[in-house]
Amino acid sequence: MTTYKRPEGTDDILPEQIPLWVRLEAVMRESFVRYGYAEIRPPMFEDTKLFYKASGDTTDVVEKQMFTVPSRSDSEDSYTFRPELTPGTLRALIQNGLFNQRSMWKVFYYGPMFRYEKPQKGRSRQFTQFGVEAVGSKDPLIDVETMAVFADILRGVGLTEYALRVNTLGCATCRGGYRDAVKAAVGESLKDYCENCRRRFDRNVFRIFDCKVERCSLLAEKLPAITDHVCPECKSHFEKVQAGLRIAKLDFAVDKRIVRGLDYYTRTVYEFSSQAIGAQNALGGGGRYDPLVPQMGGPDVGAVGFAAGAERILLALKSLDVDVVRPDFFIVSAGNDAREACFKTAQELRAAGLSGDLDFEGKSIKAQMRRANDLKARFTVIIGGDELAKGVVNVKNMEDGAQTTVTPSEAREIIGRKR
Ligand code: AMP
Repeated sequence: MTTYKRPEGTDDILPEQIPLWVRLEAVMRESFVRYGYAEIRPPMFEDTKLFYKASGDTTDVVEKQMFTVPSRSDSEDSYTFRPELTPGTLRALIQNGLFNQRSMWKVFYYGPMFRYEKPQKGRSRQFTQFGVEAVGSKDPLIDVETMAVFADILRGVGLTEYALRVNTLGCATCRGGYRDAVKAAVGESLKDYCENCRRRFDRNVFRIFDCKVERCSLLAEKLPAITDHVCPECKSHFEKVQAGLRIAKLDFAVDKRIVRGLDYYTRTVYEFSSQAIGAQNALGGGGRYDPLVPQMGGPDVGAVGFAAGAERILLALKSLDVDVVRPDFFIVSAGNDAREACFKTAQELRAAGLSGDLDFEGKSIKAQMRRANDLKARFTVIIGGDELAKGVVNVKNMEDGAQTTVTPSEAREIIGRKR
């Protein structure tokens, strides 16, 4: 018989892992709402051209990692499953005319992303991101706010061992001079860099800084830092970001190796990482991308955002304080005759807002009691021939073992009361 396997680089999130996910999702939503971010849900796939335009065609994601399908068999056009959500979010804000209503939008998103990666620990082909886009301000404090809400979410789920590294990439005015300075400094030694870096030299030399090959990072250490090349406006912006981080009481380090993979960043860039998860240690990152919104047909108002990897955050958490959700009841059928009465009682309890289950496999009383224990049900309701004849049920408190025989409505009252 054929056995089916999930596609390479995908995960099954099994019921036992769900409480962790639900907890992360709850903390994330609560934090975003507390900071005034509203949720947005663009589609899973977009016109492929959107990603070429918005993400930049020299990035790894666009060059090599897109899941693209023809939009129709007889068409040249294609769709791509979103590898990130900044382009789709901006498209949605612009297409729906939201900037005609208000000049500033703070939105967050959550959901699966798709990248054709070489699968490894912390790197999948389908993974989950949450993130924000704050569009409508060039104030350095909004850069800081995005970092603050990210840090709040990490702390909220109990992840305190993380590092925040920040950098500036300057703007169109100062970046050219810096690019020339880096290229000149690499100069003759280009041959010592890895093949990827050699290829990136002409197209996006800054990517050399975040190359994971050890030899390249050692060489990159000696390259000039952008902080010595930025224009006065970018310098002042970066100083205000650092002052804001101190106001928000966020520990951080300035690190010139933070350049981010995507082409669209300007000025502030940052990354949160954790030593707990091995080579793929980035939990998420973001930055300012002022030119992208007007480039996509929106207003020139400034924008900043981040994307975080949910799987990596859960991986970094050694333990998470998650309450086990205990059902209120489990109904044990003592004999086959009582099965319908058990089902009827379950429905009445559920209709009263209580949670619980019953046996559908015709198991023995002992096996049903074991199931009630495994589920950590607060009460077991036992119904057999005797109870059936008298119109009563037997209610057992699983905490103290106390048992009483009562009418169904009294049972409902007892189980509901003790929550
Ligand atoms: P990026 O959009 O590449 O900056 O990614 C933001 C965050 O998403 C990263 O820091 C990771 O936490 C997560 N991430 C990116 N790619 C993957 C992947 N292939 N598998 C799992 N998580 C990922």
